[in-house]
Amino acid sequence: MEHPKTLLEAIKYFSDEQVCIDAVARMKWSNGEAICPQCHAKEPYYLATQKRWKCRKCKKQFSVKVGTIFEDSPISLQKWLPAMWLLCNCKNGISSWEIHRALGVTQKTAWFMLQRIRLALERDNKHKLGGSGGGPVEVDETFVGPNLQKMHRARRLKIKAGECGQTKAIVMGMLDRDLRQVRAKVIPNVKREVLQGEIIEEIEKGSTVYTDGYTSYDDLARRNYIHETVNHVEEYVRGEVHTQGIENFWSLLKRGLKGTYVAVEPFHLDRYVTEQIFRYNNRATKDNPLNDSDRFLLALSQVAGKRLTYAELTGKVPQRPEVS
Ligand SMILES: [Zn+2]
Repeated sequence: MEHPKTLLEAIKYFSDEQVCIDAVARMKWSNGEAICPQCHAKEPYYLATQKRWKCRKCKKQFSVKVGTIFEDSPISLQKWLPAMWLLCNCKNGISSWEIHRALGVTQKTAWFMLQRIRLALERDNKHKLGGSGGGPVEVDETFVGPNLQKMHRARRLKIKAGECGQTKAIVMGMLDRDLRQVRAKVIPNVKREVLQGEIIEEIEKGSTVYTDGYTSYDDLARRNYIHETVNHVEEYVRGEVHTQGIENFWSLLKRGLKGTYVAVEPFHLDRYVTEQIFRYNNRATKDNPLNDSDRFLLALSQVAGKRLTYAELTGKVPQRPEVS
């Protein structure tokens, strides 16, 4: 069967466990040939009935899930892969309740699955934005708060009474207009050293940076950026000088958060931002006509070397560094 193009085809295609194992193996090992995770010996035996490999050298057994976001999960790949397809391709995201109903896992399990898949969607950014060839970079920040309407009444009342501390989280975002790539993350505050620190970290010196007139951005020119500001108060756009691209990303992010996710703890917000960045940066454009299948395969190519346990997810233990 040809590689699936639609959700329906994907569910059919991945209903065969061996097909799932082969798909993950192809992404995990070059040519899909298994290597022992313990001693790195090649050409292990394949135990077809158990769908596991056995190392010829150290005799240890292992499954294709070892060393991926699926490690230690009792959930079958026949459920993991459709869940991944859905998260990569549903424009406004998909909630754990929808996954629960669609795939027949508990809502708690679905929540955990989605958090692990979001980990796979994270990219290491090796290059800075802007710079030679890169276009101007729009920089902006936004506040994300809980959706009071959809929240449990007791919690809503607590928030209204100011008993929950800071309820709004701040997300800072940058859009390289030529690359059409967004980067965004949760930041602790909007002080000058935080905002400018992020800009220095992510944007090549000498690039053109568009921001609003917020004072925390005010000495970017001194830091070797070509800084142009947008005057939101007077509500006009000076030609190219605007931040509408990143503002468009904010509205996608907020639509996803409001429509699909009832209440996001600030602790988990970074992962939701990552998810939205993945879909935004890999959306179909005229120059880059990606489809659902491409996005899914891209995500699948990022499952290895990443793991997240329940304790790490819920903040009980610090997250360990990625394994290679
Ligand atoms: Zn071995």
